[in-house]
Amino acid sequence: MKIVNPASGALITDVPEDGAFAVRKKYERARAAQPAWAATSIRKRLDAIRGFREQVVARYETLARTLTQEVGKPIVQSRNELNGLQKRLEFFIAEAARVLRDEKIFADEKERIEERISHEPLGVIANISAWNYPYFVGGNVFIPALLTGNTVLYKPSEFATLTGQHIAELLHAAGVPQDAFITVIGGGKTGATLLRQPIDAVFFTGSYGTGARIGAAAGRKMIKAQLELGGKDPVYVCEDADAKAAATGLADGAFYNTGQSCCSVERIYVHERIHDAFVAAFLAEVKGYKLGDPMNESTYIGPITRRPQLDVLKRQVADARRKGAKLLTGGNVINGKGNWFEPTVFIDVDHRMVLMRDESFGPIIGIQKVASDDEAVALMNDSEYGLTAGVYTPDEKRARRILARVRAGSAYWNCCDRVSPRLPWSGVGHSGIGLTLSTYGIQTFTRPKAWHLRGV
Ligand code: NAD
Repeated sequence: MKIVNPASGALITDVPEDGAFAVRKKYERARAAQPAWAATSIRKRLDAIRGFREQVVARYETLARTLTQEVGKPIVQSRNELNGLQKRLEFFIAEAARVLRDEKIFADEKERIEERISHEPLGVIANISAWNYPYFVGGNVFIPALLTGNTVLYKPSEFATLTGQHIAELLHAAGVPQDAFITVIGGGKTGATLLRQPIDAVFFTGSYGTGARIGAAAGRKMIKAQLELGGKDPVYVCEDADAKAAATGLADGAFYNTGQSCCSVERIYVHERIHDAFVAAFLAEVKGYKLGDPMNESTYIGPITRRPQLDVLKRQVADARRKGAKLLTGGNVINGKGNWFEPTVFIDVDHRMVLMRDESFGPIIGIQKVASDDEAVALMNDSEYGLTAGVYTPDEKRARRILARVRAGSAYWNCCDRVSPRLPWSGVGHSGIGLTLSTYGIQTFTRPKAWHLRGV
């Protein structure tokens, strides 16, 4: 499998892809290792994850540079991802033991009966991951999965393979047994082969299309499937918002990571009374972004990681223009080496346009004028996705009222594109099933076992 730098199109290296036989062997190793890993004390498992945290700190710059090289993430943003990983690790380390503790639910001395719940690992889990934040979306799964006594077959995205290999090296160096965490290397075909193994659960992060296939396969196997999928995340800017502050925050929310975040702002609705001021400030902000070599410290916009996405963006631009949207800046593929697309802003958009319906996953945004809160809510809910949604207004009550009516896993008031280790990360509709992060995101890697204990 060829690993190509998306900024230059240059070959970085070749890696061997796992075929059916290799995947089977890896599965068998993970299965054989699971009982011993589950029997390892939580104290030792925590020590290993603490060790991983130290390894990440020690190798920080190398890890950041590998990530930038293979996915094209601007170097400052690669470092930000590693900093964010530290916070998640700290959260999981602080909470795992408490979540795993047995619970005494009921006791009746006269009847000599006691009822308890223990939290058992699921077993061998497949972690099929995306490339856009490999440390975040991977770590949200493999860290709590390992802490709770599961063994993990981790398939990094084919676009983040080298980072996946780094992760394995660091976990093993920190004391996670070789067979408790195993990388499975390859693309979609390898992922499908992995799913055919008798695994106990699959935790997937990626697109709706692939997620639907994985959900169907898991359904037939009757195993737990957790699917963290895409989004078309809306934000509404009310007429009482500070236009400049909202524009600065939302431009960053739309264009950070070159728009390739699951929770990127993808649709903006602005009250007609503030629309023009907001658009002027937004455009000024976007025009100030530096596009270029992602290894450069001052670069904010990098390349598009997956080359086929350029066609998706081109189609969205052509469709929006044909249907009457006004292009304020950008709109073109940048010719030359690598995969580059200009930061693009449209106004006068509407929901007939694919730009306002399908996930863009790139540096492109549509801004639509609305006349009321009701109209904004109706448009925000007019999507098959439901990952995050935001409202900008100084009026907290109004924001809460609006956000309570919006179908989304996360609600943002005067912020966007934000993830906290303390809060559950989930989506509704085509954005997925299940959740990661928060204490629920630790519990999800366990099976509650019911104990009915009668003394004699
Ligand atoms: P993708 O669906 O193309 O691939 C995801 C993973 O699935 C990769 O590892 C890929 O090799 C594997 N895969 C592909 N076909 C498969 C098959 N038939 N069987 C098994 N595995 C298969 O997605 P991507 O391009 O890597 O990621 C981008 C998408 O991920 C976007 O839609 C984004 O919104 C979403 N995402 C969601 C979250 C979230 O938390 N909700 C986070 C990050 C990314």
